[in-house]
Amino acid sequence: MKRRPRGFATRAIHEGQAPDPVTGAVVPPISLSTTFAQTQVGEHFGYEYSRSGNPTRSAYEQCLASLESAAYGFAFSSGLAAEDAVLRVLRPGDHVVLGNDAYGGTFRLISRVHTTTGISWSAADLHEPGQLSIDWPAATKMVWLESPTNPMLSTFDIEHIVEIAHRRGAIVVVDNTFATPVYQRPLELGADVVVHSATKYLGGHSDVVGGFVAMNDDDGAEQIGFLQNAVGAVPSPFDCYLALRGLKTLELRMERHTANATAIAAWLGEHPAIATVFYPGFSGIVSCRLRGGADAARRFVERTELFTLAESLGAVESLIEIPAAMTHASAAGSPLEVADDLVRLSVGVETVDDLIDDLASALPTS
Ligand SMILES: *Cc1c(COP(=O)(O)O)cnc(C)c1O
Repeated sequence: MKRRPRGFATRAIHEGQAPDPVTGAVVPPISLSTTFAQTQVGEHFGYEYSRSGNPTRSAYEQCLASLESAAYGFAFSSGLAAEDAVLRVLRPGDHVVLGNDAYGGTFRLISRVHTTTGISWSAADLHEPGQLSIDWPAATKMVWLESPTNPMLSTFDIEHIVEIAHRRGAIVVVDNTFATPVYQRPLELGADVVVHSATKYLGGHSDVVGGFVAMNDDDGAEQIGFLQNAVGAVPSPFDCYLALRGLKTLELRMERHTANATAIAAWLGEHPAIATVFYPGFSGIVSCRLRGGADAARRFVERTELFTLAESLGAVESLIEIPAAMTHASAAGSPLEVADDLVRLSVGVETVDDLIDDLASALPTS
């Protein structure tokens, strides 16, 4: 009998996590050893030095690569460290086209760090992929996009963008932090590289900072593997354990995030103080603009109790923030600038009626 491929939730719980052959432990041990014994010079059990490879990290990398339908996965110490490794593959003179709605830190990394090594960039509106081919700078080697975007929650036709980019010799990198592989697997849509901030939904509990790169291309994977070791921005074994533990409940959590966010987006849409609601229909992030402008937005986020006023997103507890003043402050004055009356909610997995009560008591009544 041909074996049916295992489902997502099964792989999240078992891939890379077979019981320990020596002790039978069902949870991969946190391997703290920085070095590994060699039986003869150059003869070892697959591990030499923990920056180059670590058993806890391998378990996590194998599991998350599988969830992204990738042949290769590389864990990094933060989302930005993962992004940096991908951008280091570019050469002086190369051009990056960045979607014009993106995480502020990505924008800062490209525009202020990688430009110093001779990389140029431009922002593009990816709503109309056809427009992309008209504005295409000749040296473009990479198209970098988020879908849904942070914080406007736009979604794009990844397959169409990939088709245009590939025809012109550029690779496509998708930041899949907001959708997670539960809702979107960009490599299946033809994208070349997936990056993640594992700090968000993958870890899922606001207790670990991490990043990830997934891909299928052998040569590209060799370059990223080289950079992971040569630059050394690797997560600790404990961080890998936490992220891997997060993956086990990813699908369950995402279902609840979506149910809660769907209810809250609908409720906000009916509220007289809210001008516009942005919600892509899945995952847990909802953005909205207030009729009362920036001052009303600030009062709103400072009055909630269950929704904690804080940066970050994607964890079990609900958070609220003003992107223009917080997560996206570094994009002020750029093509990626965000309206100052925009509020971003990261809807957690609490009891939804309590979340709605909290928002109701923080918004003006008329
Ligand atoms: C948070 C975030 C990042 C950066 O990840 P860190 O883990 O904070 O370095 C990148 N992209 C998106 C979409 C994010 O939300």
